[in-house]
Amino acid sequence: MDCIFCKIASKKINSAIVLETEKLMVIKDVNPQSPVHLLVIPKKHYSTILDCDDTMLMAEMFEAAKEAARLSGVEKSGFRTVVNTNEEGGQTVFHLHMHILGGRPLTGRMG
Ligand code: AMP
Ligand code: ZN
Repeated sequence: MDCIFCKIASKKINSAIVLETEKLMVIKDVNPQSPVHLLVIPKKHYSTILDCDDTMLMAEMFEAAKEAARLSGVEKSGFRTVVNTNEEGGQTVFHLHMHILGGRPLTGRMG
């Protein structure tokens, strides 16, 4: 399958890895929207959160987001976790991922 995040997860293409576990990677977003903009990417391909029934993995994604926020120094100042889903949700890469945004005040608006 020609999926960019599968290639990142299998290290066929390079990325800036912040942390890695058996099941997922956290990398820096190539087009950051805030000083800290990371992506939690499961190694297994799920097109969207709707296709994922692995609740352990979903919990691990949140645990990884917490750890990556700590490592990036935004734990105290605050950060936002976002999972975009399908077209109106703003999803552009159809391999499940969670954004971690921080390092600047984020507006209260959600879109
Ligand atoms: P979404 O719009 O929620 O699907 O988010 C996709 C994100 O992936 C965007 O923020 C892109 O900047 C990011 N992205 C796309 N290609 C890469 C890449 N090769 N390395 C890191 N981030 C990427
Ligand atoms: Zn994939």
